[in-house]
Amino acid sequence: MNKVVYFDNNATTRTADEVFQEMKPFFSDLYGNPSSMHFFGGQVQGHINNAREKVAALLGCLPEEIIFTSCGTESDSAAIYSALRTFPEKKHIITSAVEHPAVLNLCKDLEKRGYRVTYLNVDENGMINLEDLKKSVTSDTAAVSIMWANNETGVIFPVKEAAKIAKSKGAIFHTDAVQAAGKINLDLKNSDIDMLSVSGHKLHAPKGIGVLYVKKGTIFHPFLTGGHQEKGRRAGTENVPYIIGLGKAAELALKNMDKENEYVKSLRDRLEKGIISSVKNVRVNGEKSPRLPNTVNISFEYVEGESILLFLSEKGICASSGSACTSGSLEPSHVLMSMKVPMTFAHGSVRFSLSVYNTQEEVDYVLKELPPIIERLREISPFAEGKPLFGMDACDKHSH
Ligand code: PLP
Repeated sequence: MNKVVYFDNNATTRTADEVFQEMKPFFSDLYGNPSSMHFFGGQVQGHINNAREKVAALLGCLPEEIIFTSCGTESDSAAIYSALRTFPEKKHIITSAVEHPAVLNLCKDLEKRGYRVTYLNVDENGMINLEDLKKSVTSDTAAVSIMWANNETGVIFPVKEAAKIAKSKGAIFHTDAVQAAGKINLDLKNSDIDMLSVSGHKLHAPKGIGVLYVKKGTIFHPFLTGGHQEKGRRAGTENVPYIIGLGKAAELALKNMDKENEYVKSLRDRLEKGIISSVKNVRVNGEKSPRLPNTVNISFEYVEGESILLFLSEKGICASSGSACTSGSLEPSHVLMSMKVPMTFAHGSVRFSLSVYNTQEEVDYVLKELPPIIERLREISPFAEGKPLFGMDACDKHSH
């Protein structure tokens, strides 16, 4: 394989070797169905329970508060639908304008079905304002869903305080912790958070396994009904090997978090400082807010994020932009729009997200390859500094 410098760990992570090893017997020797009456299936249930304990230890909660799901998206949907069923008379939902589509598009869909949704904006530092939440939450609010850490900027939100505010008005509080779990300490004990989503593939477990935390005492209505798996809270035969893998990934994350964060943050900071010092007209989005140690979102004025990604990709460098390409027009990221990042910057945004598998050599390779790419793109950009815009807003150049 050609050189791969993988700086897109908020999209997905490499499955850790230890995780893969731990999973293997559950494809071959231990393939029984945990619901079976016989010893062969029954023995598997014990392994699932061990995995549940490891995930609970990572989250700082009780094992019985953990439900295994298929992914972060399922956990988000299950949580929000459950809250709405708990309060059928309440028709208001609060979320943030910067959620992942797993929550945002669900809320947009619910709006079409008669719910009123408040989308809390963030400030220029990518941070939510709890005063806005206080003003929006009422006794008609069924659910408040605010992410723990933003996938594009890495900005960490004060969700424990947000949960208190939601609870004070009787709403159920859910947080999408897909980017936070395994990267920062969550410690759910004594928190007011009712429900929380995790996705295995963001913390070195495989794709296709997730967790929904449901606080003891919180009413829960299952999203999938059928068999009595997961104590009747999530029907469907358990994805045993992946549950075992997630258990191992959680154990490793808990054991190594401090050490790994220090290392990953040092790489991220080296990358960030290196870019700032070698490229003009850049801004780090969310830099004044508390951020995940692995993420930097950086905007390069007058260039197109997608073009940067393509040129980086030619050099074997994998990064991401927050923007979504819909029907031929490139919309800037909804997260950067909520932050009111100027258009000339918002279009040129790139997210680098690192992991413990990255090295200083890789950072230095990106620092060598990136500046000439930006320089070249600015040379050919019709919108670069000093060039006339012919009456067009920088944003208009995309709409056909
Ligand atoms: N929520 C956030 C914040 C995410 O970053 C992602 C994935 O990128 C998801 C939810 C969806 O998780 P999954 O891919 O497991 O459905």
